[in-house]
Amino acid sequence: MTPAGALRRIAFLLERAREPSYRVKAFRTAATVVDGLDDAEIARRVRTRTLKDLKGIGDKTAAVIVEAQAGDVPAYLSDLEERHAVQPLTGPAGELRAALRGDLHSHSDWSDGGSPIREMAEAARDIGHDYLALTDHSPRLTVANGLTAERLSRQLDVVAELNEELAPFRILTGIECDILSDGSLDQSDELLGRLDVVVVSVHSELRATRAQMTERMLAAVANPHTDVLGHCTGRLLVEREQAGGKKQRPRPESDFDAEAVFTACLDNGTAVEINSRPERLDPPMRLLQLAADIGCDFSIDTDAHAPGQLDWQGAGCERAAQVGITADRVVNTRPWGVG
Ligand SMILES: [Zn+2]
Ligand SMILES: [Zn+2]
Repeated sequence: MTPAGALRRIAFLLERAREPSYRVKAFRTAATVVDGLDDAEIARRVRTRTLKDLKGIGDKTAAVIVEAQAGDVPAYLSDLEERHAVQPLTGPAGELRAALRGDLHSHSDWSDGGSPIREMAEAARDIGHDYLALTDHSPRLTVANGLTAERLSRQLDVVAELNEELAPFRILTGIECDILSDGSLDQSDELLGRLDVVVVSVHSELRATRAQMTERMLAAVANPHTDVLGHCTGRLLVEREQAGGKKQRPRPESDFDAEAVFTACLDNGTAVEINSRPERLDPPMRLLQLAADIGCDFSIDTDAHAPGQLDWQGAGCERAAQVGITADRVVNTRPWGVG
């Protein structure tokens, strides 16, 4: 394992285990520093004990580099592998997880994620996915550095280049598009039409009346560009930290006519997202059961904002299995472009 590989694996395991991003950042930063050094330079710095002269390398990360460079598995890493080992899922949930080929909801450092597109894609590939939809936020979500039309079209060029390099793995172009208060989508029609995956989500006015919220969601899921309805209730189960350190308090589900919205999803071929983030777990079980009974298709997504979070799909699979959802009803068990 290369020093950079060891540092990234540590970061991945910490993220998967839900460690806060500030604890993980040192390892990702150090990996990027090491990327900029050739083997001879790393060897020289290990020999002369000057790794820590580099900005971004501290005691812990230097120790990891020294051990990896010597061909050993760093002690810090083997300890984490043991403490944070994940038991594979069994039964129907395990079958669902094994059938997943990708993830249709993720964020990079272009919006409020913490890692570059390449690192998100490589992590998705390393956990066995064939594709990852990159769905950074839309312009109106300024707290999350939402992408203007101009930045999104630039991102499409960046993704096209990366895709040439990473093939056969594929980054699907996409957006997590805000549903505006009138139900319209927060990006130009022309751009939405160029994207592989459009996830639509409510991020504002979550306490609107039931009638307003229903009308708004019905319009969004019927939009011909829409593929997935993201975290439909907007609930937050526990406090969480947003980009920039601002705390968001837990909040209840927003109020809408779920039967009408899920029926519209079925009629318009919009998948209902099963959001696997631990603070969301959205939809709640009773609504997930309702969507399953109505006959909707689903997308089991992580909404990952860091590479290690891409491994959170197990939680969504367990919930899906509990209400009897099988792989044929989960859109991201299909090869991309089929169905
Ligand atoms: Zn969202
Ligand atoms: Zn998201």
